[in-house]
Amino acid sequence: MFILLLGAPGAGKGTQGKILAERLGLPKITTGDILRQAARTGTPLGSEAKRYMDAGKLVPDTVILGLIKDELAKPQAQGGAIFDGFPRTAAQAELVDRTLAERQQRLTHVLLLDVSDEELVKRMQSRAGIEGRSDDTPEAIRTRLQVYQRDTAPLIAHYATRGNVHRVPATGTIDDIATEIKRVVGQ
Ligand code: ADP
Repeated sequence: MFILLLGAPGAGKGTQGKILAERLGLPKITTGDILRQAARTGTPLGSEAKRYMDAGKLVPDTVILGLIKDELAKPQAQGGAIFDGFPRTAAQAELVDRTLAERQQRLTHVLLLDVSDEELVKRMQSRAGIEGRSDDTPEAIRTRLQVYQRDTAPLIAHYATRGNVHRVPATGTIDDIATEIKRVVGQ
């Protein structure tokens, strides 16, 4: 199973992805975590990425495509995985589709976590106080929502043509949403 979690920033992809990965025994690949880790350790990739992340902009595909390729090539990602935070652009989606197709695999489920903009902003603002993420400032939050609408939301239509998109209302409790995802995924 290759499951893509799609949804705006603050929709709960990380939270639900963790629950799902543990239940299914699959690795979760999270580009945001990889980039934040790189930024913390101050690698050249990390320092470049941090500028974009702090502004709420996407890290350019010239950087991300290589990162995704490396992650998909890892032994633990051969039999299935949960993708959290990527693909996020058309070029990233093409790379993922092509890489899986070359291995006679495909994205089996695209889970669209659906939350209103108003609720997203509220969640990110309250998270800002708890986690201290440097991109949870009001300006960066606004930019991230705009970037999501412009660059990532079009992927919904891309995947919808294949009939494997499942819209999950993601405003209940964490447990309710996890239960709904379990029903959609069938285990
Ligand atoms: P959120 O979805 O809440 O914004 P993420 O942790 O997924 O949080 O992403 C944080 C930031 O990391 C993004 O705003 C972007 O700068 C960068 N990022 C993460 N994944 C990608 C990706 N696949 N392509 C480009 N940038 C990414």
